[in-house]
Amino acid sequence: MTSLSGARKWAAARLREMGIESPAAEAELMLLHATGLSRPALAARGREPAGDRAFENLKEIVERRRAGEPLQYILGGWEFYGCTLKVRPGVLIPRQDTEVLVEIALPLIPEGGRFLDWGTGTGCLPLALLSERRDITAIAADANPLAVALAWHNLSSAGVLHRCLLWHSREPGDIPVEDGELSVLVSNPPYIPSQDLPGLMKEVRAEPVSALDGGEDGLAWYRKLFEWGPAKVRPGGWVLFEIGDGRQGERLAEISPENLEFRGVFQDLSGKPRAALWHRV
Ligand code: GLN
Repeated sequence: MTSLSGARKWAAARLREMGIESPAAEAELMLLHATGLSRPALAARGREPAGDRAFENLKEIVERRRAGEPLQYILGGWEFYGCTLKVRPGVLIPRQDTEVLVEIALPLIPEGGRFLDWGTGTGCLPLALLSERRDITAIAADANPLAVALAWHNLSSAGVLHRCLLWHSREPGDIPVEDGELSVLVSNPPYIPSQDLPGLMKEVRAEPVSALDGGEDGLAWYRKLFEWGPAKVRPGGWVLFEIGDGRQGERLAEISPENLEFRGVFQDLSGKPRAALWHRV
């Protein structure tokens, strides 16, 4: 009978064969999911038998992973900025890279301020910001009904939904927000140039293309946001976008409207250019 730690090693070896980047960490998360044990319980009971049922669960998870399913969709949950979120196929998985937007936005929102997150997905950005700051409110919009439902669930579970208007939006223009109402407009829009989509990793291609496809040059949604957004942000407020790379940041600085003053590009935790910031003048 395989022990719990034997089962973990078995899974890690399979994942390593598949070329998974962090096989040991993934194997541990999979075993926690397959057994329903907490991390401390798993650590304490490593020598105990895994049990047939748990081992079968684990094998099924490894098989799904082999078929290219992202780990987060299999687990159904993920962490973002210390908050646990539900994730599901059809909605973009929150990336750690995006946490830098939370760090930048937090001190920019004045007391009692209101921000808008365009393309909220799982609701990760409003969830993190509203959890950190009990004095602020938000509008979170997404074109994908699956995302709106999931963000509703996540914001509700975190007890912050009463401070967030969730809006199913086809175009930024249909969001009910007054001119000058926002302290900050934040967005992680789809920004991958359409022709680059087929070359993405298999896991990323399992995510909704509507959350990734930024049109011919990757900038289509930024252009729409530049057209609509600045009027909604009060003078002295801020516009903060996630970006794909430094080149995209430079292009955006060039095409941004006159009432936005470019304040620079910021790096994520792995040192890659990941956010661009403008001051509303
Ligand atoms: N950062 C995402 C990626 O890896 C892209 C998300 C987006 O287009 N906003 O692929």
